[in-house]
Amino acid sequence: MSGHGEHIRSRGSSPALAPDKTGLPPLLVAALAAKIAAAAAWAWSAHRLGAALFVAPDPFLFWAVVAPRAQGLVRTATHFATDRREIWLTIDDGPDPHDTPKILDLLDRHRAKATFFVIGERAARHPELVREIVRRGHEVAHHTHTHPRFTFWCAGPGRLAAELDRGLAALRPAGVRPRWFRPPVGIKPFLLAPALGARDLRCVGWTVRSGDCHATSAGALAARVAPRLRSGAILLLHEGPGVPPTVRVTGAARVLAACAELGYACVIPHADQLR
Ligand SMILES: [Zn+2]
Repeated sequence: MSGHGEHIRSRGSSPALAPDKTGLPPLLVAALAAKIAAAAAWAWSAHRLGAALFVAPDPFLFWAVVAPRAQGLVRTATHFATDRREIWLTIDDGPDPHDTPKILDLLDRHRAKATFFVIGERAARHPELVREIVRRGHEVAHHTHTHPRFTFWCAGPGRLAAELDRGLAALRPAGVRPRWFRPPVGIKPFLLAPALGARDLRCVGWTVRSGDCHATSAGALAARVAPRLRSGAILLLHEGPGVPPTVRVTGAARVLAACAELGYACVIPHADQLR
């Protein structure tokens, strides 16, 4: 099992997953241009053409917003390049005073490294947990300040800036400056790319969504995750009250045991490995 703790603070260049530009995403520009063209077509009495132009980009935009793996609005890492038997374990929605210390012990026991995508509000309440995550050789990343699940997709520049900047401020007392951002439930606002680009954050999705928040038992969770693992996979787990009581921590324990049985090391990849 390879220890990659020395890579955690690496901020190397990333040709594979370049930082997002600060301008509007091309898909959004094309969609807005189509609306303007539709209005022009209507003005010239080309009503059918106008209607077609008006709605044509919408399915693409909708997909880019709601599909966690879609790349239309913001470049999103969905796996990493490696020729070793290793995965990137990512744990969302903490820190949590009940779960985080136990998960850290589990990770130590398996000599595994993980990235914790934390919620700013929770990090502000438990800066000692954020410090402990880093002290134990893991990485802390950004998962918004308030974790808005249902309305984040339509967030304007002001709200986006508040979620990102307050989340960054919440991590500062623990000495953490995150590299990665993951939007709640993978839904991406129209203007996420320029907002991330301006803050030197890059969007990270996942390869394997464990489904732990809906799992009925730790065993069922491990049975679902194990066959989906591949070298270079990004595995998504959760901690905290969003996970059913029968799966909290025990689910992570069973998944880590399954990774060990299958010979997968849990590592934190370099920035330039992300794809
Ligand atoms: Zn989340």
